[in-house]
Amino acid sequence: MTAVRIAVYPGSFDPVTYAHLDIAARACQVFDRVIIGVFDRPKKNLLFTTDERMALLREAIADLPQVEAVTYNGLTVDFARSVGAVAMVRGLRTVSDFEVEYNMAQLNQTLDAEVEVVVLMASRRYAHISSSAVREIAGLGRDPVEFVPSHIVAALRQKFAQRG
Ligand code: ADP
Repeated sequence: MTAVRIAVYPGSFDPVTYAHLDIAARACQVFDRVIIGVFDRPKKNLLFTTDERMALLREAIADLPQVEAVTYNGLTVDFARSVGAVAMVRGLRTVSDFEVEYNMAQLNQTLDAEVEVVVLMASRRYAHISSSAVREIAGLGRDPVEFVPSHIVAALRQKFAQRG
């Protein structure tokens, strides 16, 4: 019997987009299980709380049986180890993404050389999508229906209505 190969896919997912879901689904072609790690205490300012990001994500991955979502804090390599992952999946959009991801991969390799970093290139269809663009579009009054599932469009509406 061969061992189950698990990968983690870490990020902020504020909120999860079709691009994130595409990366997660494609990672399932390479790994048996993909555990999306929602970072609990990112430094950047977030629109949605950790609980909200988790709930939106869980609904979005309901039709992906190999994928689950959990929260984590601390180092991503330690999170990967704790769930028995052999790899960390990242998505790459642009050359500027590359510089950030390359630097982060080197740091993580230094911290734990046994957790491999696997980078999937953005699908052409989704390469322009980012959570920050989704937040901005929604904040300016347009539903980002091309970028996120409908339950997230609804959550964005509610969030910005609350904010006034
Ligand atoms: P963002 O970079 O949108 O704020 P996250 O921090 O949640 O999102 O990113 C988690 C991972 O998903 C990162 O590896 C990021 O590069 C990747 N990702 C985000 N958007 C895309 C996209 N449009 N195509 C491919 N990968 C993406």
